[in-house]
Amino acid sequence: MNDRDDVTDAVGPAAEAGDLIAELGPDSEGFFGEYGGTFVPETVMPALEELERAFHDAMADPAFHERLDSLLRDYVGRPTPLYRADRLAAAVGLGCVWLKREDLNHTGAHKINNCLGQALIAERMGKRRIIAETGAGQHGVATATVAALLGMECAVFMGVEDIRRQSLNVYKMQLLGAQVVPVSDGAGTLHDAVTAALRHWVERVDDTFYVLGSAVGPHPYPLIVREFQCVIGEEIIDRMGEIDACMPDAVVACVGGGSNAIGTFHPFLRDIDPEGRPLLVGVEAAGLGIDTDKTGASIALGSPGVLHGMFSYLLQDDAGNPLEAYSISAGLDYPGVGPEHAFLHDAGLARYESVTDAEALVAFDLLCKTEGIIPAIESAHALALLPRLAAELGPKATVVVTVSGRGDKDIDIVREAGLGA
Ligand SMILES: *Cc1c(COP(=O)(O)O)cnc(C)c1O
Repeated sequence: MNDRDDVTDAVGPAAEAGDLIAELGPDSEGFFGEYGGTFVPETVMPALEELERAFHDAMADPAFHERLDSLLRDYVGRPTPLYRADRLAAAVGLGCVWLKREDLNHTGAHKINNCLGQALIAERMGKRRIIAETGAGQHGVATATVAALLGMECAVFMGVEDIRRQSLNVYKMQLLGAQVVPVSDGAGTLHDAVTAALRHWVERVDDTFYVLGSAVGPHPYPLIVREFQCVIGEEIIDRMGEIDACMPDAVVACVGGGSNAIGTFHPFLRDIDPEGRPLLVGVEAAGLGIDTDKTGASIALGSPGVLHGMFSYLLQDDAGNPLEAYSISAGLDYPGVGPEHAFLHDAGLARYESVTDAEALVAFDLLCKTEGIIPAIESAHALALLPRLAAELGPKATVVVTVSGRGDKDIDIVREAGLGA
């Protein structure tokens, strides 16, 4: 073998895949392009560095994957089905629509994928106490669930306003043995709960692990959450291969902080060549409309800035203070977005659109009536994009939609909005 052959070997497919993953990020400082990083007080850095070491250590250990995979299968109920929704496809004018059924996971949404992964890292680190922040209470319930499963102590930080609005989830967390810690700072909502949880973590880092709920926050959290949510996209690709389905024209998911969307998108970016890759579309909440100030569309209307330890697109005022986000869906009203989405947006690797409360309600109703599936109102935002995609891609197109959760939690909201009356 001559020298040139050696060089050719070194730049074979494996090396190219490595380069691509490196390009997708994050780099060693936690940046996806210019977004991400660790914008935190010095006192938080040692805890983040310890977490990063523990995460890489776990990911390199086959025993960790064996335990995670077996709990995902037997406890969470994975793999979730990829269901071909023909009546929905006909109603929106598409050739084929596949629904990735994250609503069928234990606890009713994708959040448990990430909570379980992070709690198993806490267990390896010998930390017997986990904390979390929650807005609507979904991440709090998922964290309380895995804490009970693993026999850990659990405290969930929640704004007082959210505690008032989400009494059912507060009660569920208490039934599961968690302590709900009221946060009365600021507006008493998610933003204040994250700040309080981060502060508390630093004070008790010796025995406490912070389970962060979306692909946001300081490095390494956006990476960790992505890796635990990638099971969604990996299963979609595997299942389409098994049944010999053609590569979809588009893949759609809703974006709050961005965890179910990045878990859906990343395997397509990592494993599928650009020429064969579907259009990846993230759907933000437009709330009452992106021409109003009642919105959650951080990419459409925001600008780059720092929030909760990351540099990303934010809804902020001229002085850089985060604005209160609004959406009918409590899981999408975060004023920021995960840094990897900011990067994918700028790089043109994914597209982001927004859907109003009213459009989401129409899509919610349509899925109920055509397929007998009541989706989370967050997931209904992704479904609302289907008619637009039909207009753009034509009546033969195939689209995959991640249904991030089930709609039981939203029944009162849609009833108030007048659906089904
Ligand atoms: C929390 C939540 C979301 C939004 O969070 P992401 O991190 O953007 O995925 C979406 N759907 C459901 C059902 C949720 O509970």
